Amino acid sequence: MGLEAPVMSPPGGLSAQERLSWWEQQLPRLTSADRSEARLAMGELSLQLGNAKEARITFYEAKGGRLAASEMAQAERGIGLSYFLDGQVALGVPHLERSRENLEVPAQQEVDFLLAAVRGDAVAAGSDLLSQRMSAYMEASHLTGPVEKSNPAMVGQIQVDITRAQWGAAAMQSNWDRMTTPYRIAIHHTAEPFTATSVSATAAEVRNVQATHMHRDDPMADIGYHFLIDRAGRVVEGRPLYAQGAHASGDFNIGNIGICLLGNFSAQPERGASYAKAQRPSAAQMATLERLVDQLRQIYNIKASQVQGHRELKNTECPGDELAAWVKRYQRSG
Ligand SMILES: [Zn+2]
Repeated sequence: MGLEAPVMSPPGGLSAQERLSWWEQQLPRLTSADRSEARLAMGELSLQLGNAKEARITFYEAKGGRLAASEMAQAERGIGLSYFLDGQVALGVPHLERSRENLEVPAQQEVDFLLAAVRGDAVAAGSDLLSQRMSAYMEASHLTGPVEKSNPAMVGQIQVDITRAQWGAAAMQSNWDRMTTPYRIAIHHTAEPFTATSVSATAAEVRNVQATHMHRDDPMADIGYHFLIDRAGRVVEGRPLYAQGAHASGDFNIGNIGICLLGNFSAQPERGASYAKAQRPSAAQMATLERLVDQLRQIYNIKASQVQGHRELKNTECPGDELAAWVKRYQRSG
């Protein structure tokens, strides 16, 4: 804030379209420096109006003038956002990346939010508001949101990457049994095709699993599994370990820790095209599975031979051939 003349602005009470027209009328009378600033304002209005191409042209015109570093960043940001509005994320990302350093705080947070959404990264607190503000860009570029922060937390002695609060778990109902000392572990897949790696997509998928378990003819108290592992290898907190699981049939749940990997690892052509081909567990999922199983065995003194695939307890394809083969190897290892 210096002693410069106040930047001119359109009269109040005008719509975005009217303000845009007002700026257009001013342009010929402005000095070239003011014209560049005016174009930044016009570009913003075009973004608000959802006119991606017009916004992009206007921001490029602004860039053609003399701009301070912060104004140049605004122009780059605007160009990047215009590509997001067009659904062309790959074209928008380099502009957003160039812009972020010289942006002021609210705009910088917005840009960081979008970049994190593209990468499937976690974003910091306050993301609900950000995701509302950026929803037009998220939707146009098919980004899932909100992107919740993945904040590793200890649940008992186990570190989880996504807690129940973070995935938005519904509260456990009263019809649960107390877990007796765990002495075995059962491995499952969700049997639902799933490839996304973002925290928000995982959260939505785990909410689905929980809803399926809690809204059946014989509703479960909670999600059936104690842990889930997402495609990026994150550990997701499931049913609390003090509660017996509901992932194997009847008494097979006694003392049995349920771990479920997200994905469909067994072909189910009868369920339609998207189920026709088995997915493979991701390398990140397998690395996390082995680490988690090792850790649980150590804590509860569980024998390797007591780590089982669901199919060893019931006539089911679960957890698919590849994971079942891993279980067999694991049993022999210990
Ligand atoms: Zn299973």
